[in-house]
Amino acid sequence: MTAAPSKSASDRLATSRPPHALALFDFARTDGELHGTVALSALSRLRDLLASDAGAPVQWTLRGFQRQRAGMRPQAMVALRVHAELGLICQRCLQEMTQEIDDAAEFRLVIDEPPLTLEELEAEDEALPAENPIDVLELIEDQLILALPLVPMHAACPDRQTAEPSSPPADAGEREERQHPFANLRELMGNPKKR
Ligand SMILES: [Zn+2]
Repeated sequence: MTAAPSKSASDRLATSRPPHALALFDFARTDGELHGTVALSALSRLRDLLASDAGAPVQWTLRGFQRQRAGMRPQAMVALRVHAELGLICQRCLQEMTQEIDDAAEFRLVIDEPPLTLEELEAEDEALPAENPIDVLELIEDQLILALPLVPMHAACPDRQTAEPSSPPADAGEREERQHPFANLRELMGNPKKR
């Protein structure tokens, strides 16, 4: 049951919540694979960062595997891929824009943050404490938040100037400078030839 009063057909399809508690070490050992979609409305921390939650559901894929490397014990891993189209505010024109997120990350499963070896410190992947079962929804939401652009911007902003002539004319800055008190002072003091 959800509190949302009205649901579109596409929203109903999207409400399969990712597992609350997934034992990731087992998932990695058995080469598990899960995928699904989750509605933006289910991702409350992410939703707070968006201009709207009207976008399509987030698609996600979680895959477990054992990484084999010469001279090292097999390492339990999970790979998470997320795809979303999120409504953000363009920081150039301040209009809403759609930002496509297509992000993949690998996590090295660890128990209670053991001391890291040099190889582990140099690894590009992220250590994920997975002694206890993981809420996959949280993992998906974290990854989306990390993938958000710091300064979202349209590749090319829509031209709004003809539709909304609210921006000041191009010579406004020049006029403002002429009105600066020191500008008049300079004229009075330094240039008697000027009328
Ligand atoms: Zn823009």
